[in-house]
Amino acid sequence: MDIKKPKLFTNADLPHLRQSPQVRAYFDVLKSRDVILEVKDVGKKFDSRQGNTEALRNISFQTHQREFLCVVGPSGSGKSTLVRIVAGLEEETSGEILLEGKPVTGPGRDRGMVFQAYTLFPWLTVKKNVMFGLEINGMGRRKAEAQALRWLHLVGLDKFVDAYPHQLSGGMKQRVAIVRALANQPQMLLMDEPFGALDAQTRARMQAHLMEIWQAIDITVLFITHDLDEAIYLADRILVLSAHPGEVMELIEVPVPRPRSPSQFISEEFLATKMRLEELIYQSVYDEEIDELPIGELGATLSRDDS
Ligand code: ADP
Repeated sequence: MDIKKPKLFTNADLPHLRQSPQVRAYFDVLKSRDVILEVKDVGKKFDSRQGNTEALRNISFQTHQREFLCVVGPSGSGKSTLVRIVAGLEEETSGEILLEGKPVTGPGRDRGMVFQAYTLFPWLTVKKNVMFGLEINGMGRRKAEAQALRWLHLVGLDKFVDAYPHQLSGGMKQRVAIVRALANQPQMLLMDEPFGALDAQTRARMQAHLMEIWQAIDITVLFITHDLDEAIYLADRILVLSAHPGEVMELIEVPVPRPRSPSQFISEEFLATKMRLEELIYQSVYDEEIDELPIGELGATLSRDDS
């Protein structure tokens, strides 16, 4: 039996991927801003007792000041590895990463990180969790407290400043984690599936919250997710990685105008973007599975399916 490779939709098939004049003007301004992050030909190989894994290959892209860039891709496409390299928690095997023109060689105050797992210190109150990083970085106690209270006010947590993490809901914990990452006033906020553990309603509220924060302060965001709706709703541009090893398939400029709202989830631009992303990811997973499947096994699978 002949297996046909699925056809990818093109821009001609999806006319709503084309940008309106308003969206084009938005991207012209965005791309005229300074480049904050430059990822140049980055590759990553892991050598372990179980064998070698090539997680990332030839990754190159830039983010501009105040850009919101999402990274999507199938599971195992190296999304977490990429953000960990940018954070300085992992070292690239080849290529380099520049932040404001300087090579990234380890973690630094210029990047704040939020993970999916809750990472607050359970023995410190909400306020002290936020103060912790400020004091470590040399800020006096009173100033750190004033800063922490100001940030917690921004995310509506005034009433919980003296609570402990176990007294908070998942959404509240992530709001504190975001504020804690932002309090040091980093250049970039790096987020690795930060809302992945939250229920759908809380997740939607957190996305809206994050957009408000992003619009209120001058920050560039690199946001990892496997949720395509989340990526389209939040991002200026979406970097799509292929499965194993992660390579750049496409960098999509999201044609959905800002300000965004949930009503746009059914707009033609939103749906066209989603179709394009789904096609890319489907294609990438399909290519990987066909590559890995021994011919005999493939034949058996097909004849089972045919019967
Ligand atoms: P994603 O976030 O897209 O799911 P990851 O970045 O977690 O992908 O992983 C990419 C690949 O690298 C996977 O095959 C994973 O098993 C491998 N990998 C990630 N971290 C390590 C590690 N510390 N040691 C060995 N292999 C790893």
